[in-house]
Amino acid sequence: MASAKEVIEKARKQSRTVLTEMESKELLRILGIPTTQMMLATTKDEAVALSKKVGYPCVLKVSSEDISHKSDAGGVKVGLADGEAVGEAWDAIMKSCKAYDPKAVIEGVTVQDMAKPGVEVIIGMSTDPQFGPVLMFGLGGVWVEVLKDVTFKLAPLTKGDAAKAVSEIKAAKLLEGFRGSEPVDKAALEDILMRVSDFVAKTPEVKEMDLNPIFAYSKGAVAVDARVILGE
Ligand code: ADP
Ligand code: MG
Repeated sequence: MASAKEVIEKARKQSRTVLTEMESKELLRILGIPTTQMMLATTKDEAVALSKKVGYPCVLKVSSEDISHKSDAGGVKVGLADGEAVGEAWDAIMKSCKAYDPKAVIEGVTVQDMAKPGVEVIIGMSTDPQFGPVLMFGLGGVWVEVLKDVTFKLAPLTKGDAAKAVSEIKAAKLLEGFRGSEPVDKAALEDILMRVSDFVAKTPEVKEMDLNPIFAYSKGAVAVDARVILGE
């Protein structure tokens, strides 16, 4: 496994400040944050072959440094049941991404295992010019835009800060078990917050991180999408 420094160096050498999802998730793995399994396919045949290794249902996502909001470009296909569906998804992704941005350089697609549904939350980090790294926690998916139910904490976080972040959002009830659903594993979310906080506190060249969404379960949590941005 590469080190965090090596992952960052690689992007730097290519004069990139935005890490791909694959690189961002590699960083998460190094930090001990659970993510989906993923492999890069650069041809349709390769995507089909890799999907057999990943297993079904699987997910295909466009990999392009020019497309950072993948679903806006029609670049995400979930719930693919077999090799044939993967081949069709490849065609559909290429078609809509090229229409979305004809100039985009498309590296290929990532083939990922499909995470089982959970409560969608988001953990982010941005850099305030005055206060430095700030961690954000809130509801994820569409809700982050609709409800803007998020809370901010200055890094480095204490364990108390992390616990507070997870319990002080307005929709905390959704995490505590709602209408008979099981409560989510708050400790797993606090652990991710702490790991991101520790990492950014010692890695000032990381300017922004976005784990959106994280699927939270009654046991554990998994980052389904990730984006890391370096400073200039
Ligand atoms: P975007 O770049 O548009 O944010 P995402 O990677 O977040 O793309 O994918 C969009 C949505 O697709 C996610 O919010 C999630 O609901 C679903 N999704 C993406 N990857 C997976 C996966 N590996 N397993 C299950 N669902 C996924
Ligand atoms: Mg996302």
